[in-house]
Amino acid sequence: MFGKVAVFGLGYVGLTTALALDAANIRVVGYDIDHDKLDKLKNGELCMYEPGLENLVKNHNILVTSNPNVALQDDVKIVLVCVGTPSYDDGSINLEYVFNCMEDIAIGLADREESLLIILKSTVLPGTSEECINVLEQFSDKRHGQGFGFVMSPEFLREGSALNDTINPDKIVIGFKYDAEREMATELYEQMLRGHDREPNYDIFVDCNYMNAEFIKYANNACLATKISFMNDMATLCESVPGADIKVIEKALGMDYRISPHFLSAGLGYGGSCFPKDVQALIRFAENIGMDPILLHEIQGINLSQRDWPEYIIRSIYRNETEYDDDDHSGDLSHLRVAVLGLAFKPNTDDMRDAPSVEIIRNLTMRGADIIVHDPEAMENAGKALFTTVTYADDIYEALTGADCVIVVTEWKEYTYIKPATFKKLMRRPVVIDGRRIYDPQEMLGAGIEYYGVGFGKL
Ligand code: NAD
Repeated sequence: MFGKVAVFGLGYVGLTTALALDAANIRVVGYDIDHDKLDKLKNGELCMYEPGLENLVKNHNILVTSNPNVALQDDVKIVLVCVGTPSYDDGSINLEYVFNCMEDIAIGLADREESLLIILKSTVLPGTSEECINVLEQFSDKRHGQGFGFVMSPEFLREGSALNDTINPDKIVIGFKYDAEREMATELYEQMLRGHDREPNYDIFVDCNYMNAEFIKYANNACLATKISFMNDMATLCESVPGADIKVIEKALGMDYRISPHFLSAGLGYGGSCFPKDVQALIRFAENIGMDPILLHEIQGINLSQRDWPEYIIRSIYRNETEYDDDDHSGDLSHLRVAVLGLAFKPNTDDMRDAPSVEIIRNLTMRGADIIVHDPEAMENAGKALFTTVTYADDIYEALTGADCVIVVTEWKEYTYIKPATFKKLMRRPVVIDGRRIYDPQEMLGAGIEYYGVGFGKL
């Protein structure tokens, strides 16, 4: 029915979508400018760690190309644009890749007889769809609604469960102007879901205009970031209240259906390629239209200050054992070996983009600490993001051996199994700084561990 579907940009969103479509027997052609990525895909290999995609990528039927003209063959009826929308240094959104794609598509469109539907899945600020339509019209000399259709359909998948989220979406937003483009986009999603034995539930489709489709994505991410920063703010309060424990409070709050139990975990803050950049882009967007987004500033500020928490704990423990000058922040940690467990911005991914670990490790390294790190999947990517002085441990045991303290930065499952006896046996001093609250404080303290957890108010 759709002929082929072209996917522009084969990153987390584009590749997951392409593989999900392919597995649903929809013919796909994938286009990217990253040749290494394309070579791997041609060999049935992934360029990132993402559970669930390994099996699909091994036997995929996607035609991959670095040539946009090949990607826009005549039998392609729909193009999904999934390229990155990173930040400029001032935090504003960089739409260069999106507009490059629109130009490529427009050039292909100019020579076509048949109409093409362009579905933009990248996260873009309100007003961007109209700009894309202008670029498409200008470079193709075709009119929106006649020569091509345009739908804004933001993506909500989470890294670590990208495939599962794609084939079990809790909502599908379709921003459109003409009914024909809405119908075609809806049919594509329906066919993909049916191909994965899911009967589409029409209640999950949100049909709206472009502005709302664009806005929904930012409001969604800002809302989730707010929950996390709110809990981190409460956690900081708990730490000053002996006997208070954010985990107990979290459980009770999660029982309130108006709040829901999701995204309530206090910790070292959010990272990754979405929340930090999207909150920042929304701040810049609001400022550009003359607003002062006070809440968004606070959400961001709380998030960044959580990254200082492990260092604050280390300095408070060792304050009396070394020379400190808190005013000029010259506290020397060169006598300490610090083990860091977890580098990726969250478990089940190897994505290091805006990972809290990078800043935590950089600050400790600058104070002279000897850092040894471990992550089950992100060691290779971490090598590009961390100081060269950092040591990479082959396993958890090597990381812990001889350490003066350990910081849990990412809550990988394997770290939850480490017993107090292991910390005591391997470490020079069993100081456990639990940045993700994966251990039971009572069990740790009872076993003689010097335990510090985010939001745990010691008695
Ligand atoms: P990514 O960086 O993993 O992938 C983007 C891909 O686009 C890269 O492979 C890059 O080489 C390619 N690319 C760049 N310019 C291109 C061009 N002109 N033509 C063809 N390919 C090009 O990005 P991502 O994480 O998949 O995110 C894509 C978009 O989706 C972003 O706007 C992001 O904010 C949004 N998003 C991401 C997630 C997530 O969890 N990663 C979730 C929801 C939405």
